[in-house]
Amino acid sequence: SGRRAGRSSPRKSREASKASRLNFYEEDLHKGALVWHRGDGQEEWLKHAYLGDAGSDGCRLRAAGGDEVTVPKSSVCSCNPDFLEGTSDLTNLTYLNEPSVLHNVRLRYDRDEIYTRAGNVLIAVNPFKKLPIYSAEDAQRYESGSSEGPHIFEVAQRAYGDLFDTGKSQSVVISGESGSGKTENTKFVLRAILQTNPILEAFGNAKTLRNRNSSRFGKLINIYFDSPTQISGANIYTYLLEKSRVVNVQKQERSYHIFYQLCKGCSNEERQRYSLSDASEFDYLNQSECFDIDGTDDGRDFAEVKAAFQTFGFDATTQDRIFRLLSGILHLGNVEFFEEDTEGGLQSKIRNAKPLQTAARLLDVDERLLERVLTSRIIRARNEQMTKSMDANQALSARDTLAKHAYAALFEWLVKSMNSFIGKKKKEGRSYRNINLLDIYGFECFKINSFEQLCINYANERLQQLFNQHLIELEQREYKSENLAWEQIPYSGNDDCLELLEGQRDSFISIIADEINIPQASDATLALKLKDQLTSHSSFVNNARDPMRFSIAHYPGRVEYDVNQFLDKNRDNLSADLVELFSSNENSLLCKLLESSPTMRDQNNQMKTGRRQSTLRQQSVAATFKGQLTSLIETLGETSVHYVRCIKPNSKQVPNNFKSDLVLDQLKCCGVFEVVQMARLGYPTKFSYEQFNEKYDFLLGSRSASASERDSKASCLAILKKFGIDPSQYQFGLTRLFLRAGALGKVEQLQKLFL
Ligand code: ADP
Ligand code: MG
Repeated sequence: SGRRAGRSSPRKSREASKASRLNFYEEDLHKGALVWHRGDGQEEWLKHAYLGDAGSDGCRLRAAGGDEVTVPKSSVCSCNPDFLEGTSDLTNLTYLNEPSVLHNVRLRYDRDEIYTRAGNVLIAVNPFKKLPIYSAEDAQRYESGSSEGPHIFEVAQRAYGDLFDTGKSQSVVISGESGSGKTENTKFVLRAILQTNPILEAFGNAKTLRNRNSSRFGKLINIYFDSPTQISGANIYTYLLEKSRVVNVQKQERSYHIFYQLCKGCSNEERQRYSLSDASEFDYLNQSECFDIDGTDDGRDFAEVKAAFQTFGFDATTQDRIFRLLSGILHLGNVEFFEEDTEGGLQSKIRNAKPLQTAARLLDVDERLLERVLTSRIIRARNEQMTKSMDANQALSARDTLAKHAYAALFEWLVKSMNSFIGKKKKEGRSYRNINLLDIYGFECFKINSFEQLCINYANERLQQLFNQHLIELEQREYKSENLAWEQIPYSGNDDCLELLEGQRDSFISIIADEINIPQASDATLALKLKDQLTSHSSFVNNARDPMRFSIAHYPGRVEYDVNQFLDKNRDNLSADLVELFSSNENSLLCKLLESSPTMRDQNNQMKTGRRQSTLRQQSVAATFKGQLTSLIETLGETSVHYVRCIKPNSKQVPNNFKSDLVLDQLKCCGVFEVVQMARLGYPTKFSYEQFNEKYDFLLGSRSASASERDSKASCLAILKKFGIDPSQYQFGLTRLFLRAGALGKVEQLQKLFL
C-alpha cells in the first residue's frame, strides 16, 4: 500500500533533520564554508570561514580580515547561502539556527523591510520612524493583489479575503511587548477596514517609560460584515483598564492623555467653566513631574478628540458633562486632609475647602455629602446607623477610590456609548461573519510586579496556549492520528503554569476568590495561603526570604510578584458610602455611570433592597478577568487566527538601532522557531482521497476515475507520480493525503492551463 510512501527516503530524512534547530550538520562543515560564531563577551555573531577541525570538539575559523581562531565546535552555526540573504519568509532558510534567523530579520530591518513571514505568522519589527509603506495606494496594491510581500496590509487583506472565501470568521491577534507596535499595527489593519478613533486612545493610553503612547487596557474589536463590501457594525470589548494610574503615576510617566489635553486644549471660556489651570496645578498630574511628550501636541489632540466625540454622536451637553467629570476628578485630587484626636479615635478633616467645593460642583454632588464620605464611614447594622471616623490615610484612600472608580466607570460608559453608535446597524436575529482584532498588553516583568502584571501575564499565557494549540499541537496530533511518519517537534507547552494560575482548585484564582470573602483576611494571610498551597507546584517558585514575595515560571521567563495590595485590588468595590454619593444626584453623570456599570449597579441594588453586603459572596477581580479571558479565547477559537508578532528592536524607542539579544529573546519567546519548523516540515495542504481525485484526475488525460477509484490511494499516487512530485513532499494518511507547503505548485500551474 502507498500509505507510507516516501517514508524512508534518505533525502527526506536529511531534509527533516536539517530543518531542526541544530546549529550545523557535520557534513556541511568543510573548508571554506561560512559559519556564525560569537566569541565570549561579544555582542554579535560574526561570519567566519571554516578552516577545519581542531582536536575532538574544536575547530579553526577565520573572520574576514581577522586572525585564525580555535573555538569549540558547539559555538559554531552554519550560515545560509547568499541567495537566501534577507528572504521574506523564514521558512525558506536552509538553516534555522538562531544567528541565521536573527541575521535575516536584522538585514531586512536595516533595509526598512520591517515585516517578515514565519510561515503563517507575521513578524513586525517596530521601526520607530515613519516609513512610506502605509499609503492608500499601498493598501490598494494589497487589495488588488499586485503587492504580496509580507506586510500588515497583506494580513488584513488575507483575513478579509478568507472571510468570504471560506465563510469562516477570522481573527487577527497582535501581540508583543509594550512598545513593540501592537496598537500601531492594529490601527493599520483597521484603516484597511474601518476608521480609527482617538477617543479610546485619549482615555485609555498614557506615557510610560517603555512607550510614549502605551495602551493601558486590552481591546478586542469585532467587525461585522453583511457582504464583502458592507460592514454592518462593530463592537469594542475592553479588558482591565489600569485605573490606579488616575491617582498614582510613577516618575517620568503620565496619567491618561485626556487630562493633559483638557488642561492644554480648553478655550478660555471652558477653562473658567471647569476651573482649569495648568496641569502642574493638579496633584494627580504633578506627582510624576512629567507633563509633556516630545512630538505630541496635547492641545491639537484635544481638538481631535472633540471632533471624534461629534462623529460618535456625543452632543455638546454630553461632552460638557464628560469634561466636568474629568475636571472634577482633578480637583478632587487636590483635596488634602489632616487629623484630630477625638474620643472616637483619629478624625480626618479637610484642610483646603476650595478644591472640595470645586470638585463637588463639577461632579454634581452635594459638598457636605462629599466631605462626609471622604472623612467618615457609616456603619449600617439592622435598624441603626453609626458614624465612624476615618484617619487621614483612610480619607486619602477613600478620595482615591472615588477618583479611580469615577474614571474607570467613565471609560466603560464611553466604550458602551461608542458601541451603541457603531454597532447600531447590526440587525437582530441574523448570524454575522466577523473579523476580530485583538490588541492586548504584552508580557510584563518589572522590578516589582503586582496584581496588574499577574493579570497581564495570565492573559498572555492563555494566548500563548491558543497559539501553541493552533499552530503546533493540533497539527501534530492530527499527523499522529493519521499515522504519518512524524518526529514530534518539541515545544514547551504552558498548561502547567495555567493550572497554577487558574485551576479550579489550589490555584491563584481559586485562593484569591476565597480569601476576599473572609473579612479578617489581609495580604499577609493571602500570601501565607498562596505559599502554603502552591509551593509544590512546579511553576511556583517560593521566595523564602520574603513572606510577601514569590515567583512564577512563565513561558518567557520568571517573574517575581509582591502580594501587597492584592486583596484590595481584587475586592475593588465601592464602599456603601461612595455608592450613595454616586447615586445621590439622579441628574449627575456619576449617577448615569453607576447605572451603566453592571457591578456597581448590582451593589447599589443590594443596598437599596437592604441586603447586607457581607452576606453575599463577592466576585474577585481575578475571577472576573478569568471569565472575560475564557470568553475571549472561545471567540478566537471559533475563528481562523492570523498571528502578528511585534518585536521591539531597542528599549530607547529610537530608529535604526537593533539590539540582537533583545530581539532574539522576543523571537524565541513568541514561538517563531517552532512555527517555522512546522511550516517547513509539516503538511499544511490536505485533501481527502476523494477530493484529490475529483480535483486532479482529469489531468491524467483520457480516462476519468470511476467512483470506486475516487477514494483510492492508488489513484492519487498515480497522479502525484505522473507530475513528478517528489515522495518527500507528501504522505498518505489513514483518511487523507498530506502535502508539504508548495508541493502542489506545479500541478496547480498545469491545472490553470487546462481551465
Ligand atoms: P504597543 O501597543 O505594542 O505598546 P505601539 O503600537 O503604541 O506599541 O507603538 C509604540 C510606538 O512605536 C508608536 O507610538 C510609534 O511611535 C512607534 N511605531 C510602532 N509601530 C510603528 C510603525 N509601523 N511605523 C512607525 N512607527 C511605529
Ligand atoms: Mg498599545
